[in-house]
Amino acid sequence: MTTVAAYAAPAAKAPLERTTVERRPVGEHDVLIEIKFAGICHSDIHQAREGWGEAIFPMVPGHEIAGVVSEVGSAVTKFAVGDRVGVGCMVDSCRECENCKAGLEQYCAEGMTGTYNAIDRNGEPTYGGYSTHIVVDEAYTVRIPEGLALDEAAPLLCAGITTYSPLKHWNAGPGKKVAVLGMGGLGHLGVKIAHALGAEVTVLSQSLRKKDDGLKLGADHYYATSDPKTFEDLRGTFDLILSTVSAPLDLDAFLALLKTDGAFVNVGAPEEPVSLNLFSVIGGRKTLAGSSIGGIPETQEMLDFCAEHGFGAEIELISASEINEAYERVLASDVRYRFVIDTATI
Ligand code: NAP
Ligand code: ZN
Ligand code: ZN
Repeated sequence: MTTVAAYAAPAAKAPLERTTVERRPVGEHDVLIEIKFAGICHSDIHQAREGWGEAIFPMVPGHEIAGVVSEVGSAVTKFAVGDRVGVGCMVDSCRECENCKAGLEQYCAEGMTGTYNAIDRNGEPTYGGYSTHIVVDEAYTVRIPEGLALDEAAPLLCAGITTYSPLKHWNAGPGKKVAVLGMGGLGHLGVKIAHALGAEVTVLSQSLRKKDDGLKLGADHYYATSDPKTFEDLRGTFDLILSTVSAPLDLDAFLALLKTDGAFVNVGAPEEPVSLNLFSVIGGRKTLAGSSIGGIPETQEMLDFCAEHGFGAEIELISASEINEAYERVLASDVRYRFVIDTATI
């Protein structure tokens, strides 16, 4: 075991503070990663505050990890010391079920092992990326292409893949009208990716405060959901709505913005349930769906796609001592557009 520095929540809703955690010895299929940057995902906050139910403490959040390989196990074939790598939301899965074999490890029949707030297959708690080092099986590690800065790449490991996967699955592309609901960490990447895929992109945000940014990132249109006229003007408009909103929503109002056969795909994970009038999907043969992150092969595909199109996330780089303040700003929808921790400051 190796003791490494980390930032952890000692208990639910308690501020995060500097501490140390143990990392397992580098196994034959493992890589030791010197973490350079870790993004702050809203899921970190939901979990550190037990908004999704009981959690494991102390908790070292962080599942948007970018760093450099500093040691490899004897059987590692994919990576060498010095490689630029990333780790997202999962560090293991059963590897044998239909979903794992199909590269959909996030839907593993036995449940994937989360990068933090989980118990790994050896019975040990997992600790995430707000730390200086992590040991991960090479099969759950991806390559960060040259041309992507590591700090701007970090958020792609969760926010990027979580928006890329459903946009691809529901065929966002030329001739498709796609709305991205919520322009935070996930949403701003959803805009960039949907634009790069060739779709006509509309942002639906609570206000017009971030309109200039949205248009710069590739949106063609930008509307405020606080304005009731938005719902009149956009009725029956979209082939696809991707919701990244972290709070409960009026689903019926948004389903009315879909065309016949349109799909509302939800990736936001609010802490409370939402209600739905089923007539909202009956009329217009609409689909209401969800999506969880993406598998390992698709995560690599997404990183290569972003590198090819020359973009990472829009970030605000912070030191570890600013994590608690950053959490408050995320909760206030005051993030432009992802906080990334410089782990050298831990
Ligand atoms: P974020 O940066 O906080 O962005 C969420 C955005 O939602 C905000 O910027 C805001 O956009 C909008 N919003 C927030 N509160 C709202 C409210 N009360 N009413 C309407 N809109 C509101 O969060 P994130 O990191 O992108 O994560 C978004 C959600 O996705 C979280 O719940 C997270 O846990 C979840 N998530 C899910 C997956 C998955 O696999 N499905 C993966 C990662 C994250 P505007 O300011 O533009 O209105
Ligand atoms: Zn996340
Ligand atoms: Zn499996």
